[in-house]
Amino acid sequence: MCVVNPVTSPSISSYSLKGRTALITGSSRGIGAAIALVLAQAGADVAIHYAGQEEKARAVVKQAEDLGVRAALVRGDLSRNGAAEQIYNSTVVALGRIDILVLNASVQIPKNWLGITRADIDTQFSVNFRSGLELLQLAVPQMVAQKWGRILSIGSVQEKVPSSEMLVYSSLKNAQCAMVLSLAKQLAAFGITANNLAPGVIVTDRNRDRVSEPKDAARVLSWIPAGYMGQPSDCAGAALLLCSDAGRYITGQSLFVDGGMSL
Ligand code: NAP
Repeated sequence: MCVVNPVTSPSISSYSLKGRTALITGSSRGIGAAIALVLAQAGADVAIHYAGQEEKARAVVKQAEDLGVRAALVRGDLSRNGAAEQIYNSTVVALGRIDILVLNASVQIPKNWLGITRADIDTQFSVNFRSGLELLQLAVPQMVAQKWGRILSIGSVQEKVPSSEMLVYSSLKNAQCAMVLSLAKQLAAFGITANNLAPGVIVTDRNRDRVSEPKDAARVLSWIPAGYMGQPSDCAGAALLLCSDAGRYITGQSLFVDGGMSL
């Protein structure tokens, strides 16, 4: 029987990403920045992608370069037609190829479901699903050709416990998860894993104001068995596992990183 890349004994070196390249969408801040920096710590060259906040993205590029890897600054608004191609091309020009694709960027338009407009649906669909699929279509053929690749989508605890104000967002997180898990089965024979990491409440720019308000904070904490809200770094360990050879036998999984909130 043929075994691909046999690992003879368990070793911490299987977390190394030396020689690998990674594109992490939405890595100018928050969870995306934490994932980009842990991949850089493991030795990967990283493309730091942003939509509008160039200064924040430049700061993450500098932090990655200080870790001794190459880091590229890549811009693109994923709600726009052609953004995936622009981001893919910029990354390949800067880093040569994409071995690891982390679909992290998303937008949320919270609203009572009766007030949801077609524009709300279209924007969230473009950023949170369509552009991700287009990036996969561009990046995966090279992963197949080299028989190594990692796909990681960043989902949400809302796949299991949707907020009443986020019907479209939670639906699209489920759609993105299904897309990635569908690819997992199709791509496993090519040395490619595809997984979904679903965070719970992680304090970032997106929710900091809301969860700092004492009444809201108490309500949110009552949902989390661990008793505290997560930090972006809480997503880093799971992301590194799923993006490295340490996780080569894990595919088609959705991993909740949520302090038990999905239970
Ligand atoms: P965040 O702090 O709001 O950062 C969002 C990132 O996405 C930024 O890098 C931003 O770029 C980029 N972005 C925003 N709009 C974009 C667009 N139209 N096109 C391209 N990029 C765009 O987000 P986060 O809280 O770290 O969340 C990261 C991921 O985790 C998201 O998929 C989110 O749904 C998921 N998640 C978060 C939580 C949480 O509690 N924070 C919980 C569950 C799931 P700029 O900086 O240039 O604006």
